Amino acid sequence: MHIERIILGELATNCYIVEKNNNVIIIDPAANFEEIKKVINNRHVIGCLVTHFHFDHIGALKEILKEYKINVNDYDKLTSFNFIVLPTPGHTSDSQTFYFPEEKIMFTGDFIFQNSIGRTDLPTGNFQDMIKSLNNMTIYPDDIKIYPGHGNVTTLGIEKNHFKYYF
Ligand SMILES: [Zn+2]
Repeated sequence: MHIERIILGELATNCYIVEKNNNVIIIDPAANFEEIKKVINNRHVIGCLVTHFHFDHIGALKEILKEYKINVNDYDKLTSFNFIVLPTPGHTSDSQTFYFPEEKIMFTGDFIFQNSIGRTDLPTGNFQDMIKSLNNMTIYPDDIKIYPGHGNVTTLGIEKNHFKYYF
């Protein structure tokens, strides 16, 4: 599996282009449809995953769905990628993490960042839910790579060390 990051929009949101066996999934089409399209070039897009529906993660969603004739979070079409959808509410009630166990990768959106976690003071945000979601992460291996919605890649092990400040 090959992952490219494009940083898009006024909040510098990470959009990930994930490729496996010549098929591509777009994760969080943040903004700037033309730039995403350019990076994809003429590769075969089979789906689009969204971690949560904040504007800065879905700015180009409509155009992406239309261009590639796909639906958002249409998991049944993406079984060749072998991922698990983990509900991780807290930042928003609809926040979810996409876990690729074979590659040991998680796309966490605005749930977990390098050295921080998502804010919980926005609509549908809930700090108690956030604590529960963080707690649910402690069972997963430390060497999982975290690809967050903003900022750099980190590992779950490093971020677990910070959880104690929130509990
Ligand atoms: Zn958000």
